[in-house]
Amino acid sequence: MAKIQAPIKKGEAVHVSVADLTHEGKGVAKIDGYPLFIEGMLPGETGEVEVTKLNKGYGFAKLLRLEQKSPERVSPSCSVYEECGGCQLQHLSYAGQMEMKYNQVRNVMDRIAKLPDVPVHSVLGMEEPWRYRNKAQVPVGLSGGRLVAGFYKKRSHEIIDMTECLIQHEESDVMIQKVKDVCAANGVMSYDEQSHKGVLRHVMARIGYQTGEKMAVLITRTNELPNEQAIIAGIRREVPGITSIVQNVNPDKTNVIFGSKTRTLFGEDVIYDTIGSVKFAISARSFYQVNPVQTEVLYNKALEYAGLTGEETVIDAYCGIGTISLFLAQKAKQVYGVEIVPQAIEDARKNAELNGITNAYFEAGKAEEVIPAWYKQGIRPDVIVVDPPRKGCDEALLETILKMKPKRVVYVSCNPGTLARDLRVLEDGGYRTREVQPVDMFPQTVHVEAVAVLELR
Ligand code: SAH
Repeated sequence: MAKIQAPIKKGEAVHVSVADLTHEGKGVAKIDGYPLFIEGMLPGETGEVEVTKLNKGYGFAKLLRLEQKSPERVSPSCSVYEECGGCQLQHLSYAGQMEMKYNQVRNVMDRIAKLPDVPVHSVLGMEEPWRYRNKAQVPVGLSGGRLVAGFYKKRSHEIIDMTECLIQHEESDVMIQKVKDVCAANGVMSYDEQSHKGVLRHVMARIGYQTGEKMAVLITRTNELPNEQAIIAGIRREVPGITSIVQNVNPDKTNVIFGSKTRTLFGEDVIYDTIGSVKFAISARSFYQVNPVQTEVLYNKALEYAGLTGEETVIDAYCGIGTISLFLAQKAKQVYGVEIVPQAIEDARKNAELNGITNAYFEAGKAEEVIPAWYKQGIRPDVIVVDPPRKGCDEALLETILKMKPKRVVYVSCNPGTLARDLRVLEDGGYRTREVQPVDMFPQTVHVEAVAVLELR
């Protein structure tokens, strides 16, 4: 398709009518067929915008004046919504968000997977789509001579102080405030990116939703934490019931948050949480799903799609700390989990032990290498579950699945585009996609999670 030349100029003010939303939550309006993306505008809205950037084929504009408002427009609950950028859909009603996410999955099923007849169910959303996150990590800096902790202002390195984040657990907000106050009172200097001086870089707060356990992590540039004992005592006093205080040291000039050295300052090295009846130990560095309520909804759907009777051999590819594997192990004969991060595999083994689960085997490595090796060893799975990162499954893994011919494939995805691409490959290789269920793991943001089930024809 020929790319349309912009019929407008940069800096020009134009009148637009928005018809659609991009997957980043921007409104799309067309000027003589040329698409303009406008932050903060919703489908059905009209208004005046200023053109800010023109590319071949599409451009960007900034909203100047809204005329016709969408009935789905709501006023954002968060006072720093516009500066932060962590959420992108607070100006859209929750029902509107559900519709947008549904449309996104439906669209890629039609356009990319070429599966217009496959049923996509309406999104499983949250009853209370706020305060759902169990992990907050915030950068620390200096503003007006004061230690602040919050977020990077959109498209900048300026840290804005934040006292509450409405998608975080309330206790996380409290923990971060208290850690910040205690550190400031004890003369801890904030880290400065420019000069690579100072001490405190980030604060992380983690909560076990089911257990109520709380962990605070202080990420510092230096090994030494000045006034360590006073800080520990202060945090314990200000955050009653805290079960773990951890320091992580990151001496490098980098925007990666964590360093390699971790030491426990108080309490346990981990906090515990449960999903369904499976218990997990979560350390400062462990990957763990951030929305525990919806994780259970998602995993129950994956379990239902796996259709286990107790006799099956199951492979869980991209298994992380074994969350899905252990969930499935309760209903399967044997589960094999593979994951690229060795530390996560250690966590997975510990979690199996913690739950007395003996029919789960974990191996560290690339799914696309380990699974073919298992095949050679004679392992024949009845069901394969995949939960890949945003870029989707490796081609070699999809080929191996086609060779192994499990009865069912359950595909858990955090990126509808790559899900659709991979479903097409599996369809061409002899599988039929039975249905797709989107689950809202990240209310107020544009992220969409979905689970699909395929059967061998
Ligand atoms: N299923 C887990 C984690 C899913 S996130 C859960 O629900 O908690 C995707 C995981 O894939 C990450 O843990 C990442 O480290 C891992 N990963 C990325 N590339 C991989 C590869 N090529 N082989 C195996 N695992 C990989």
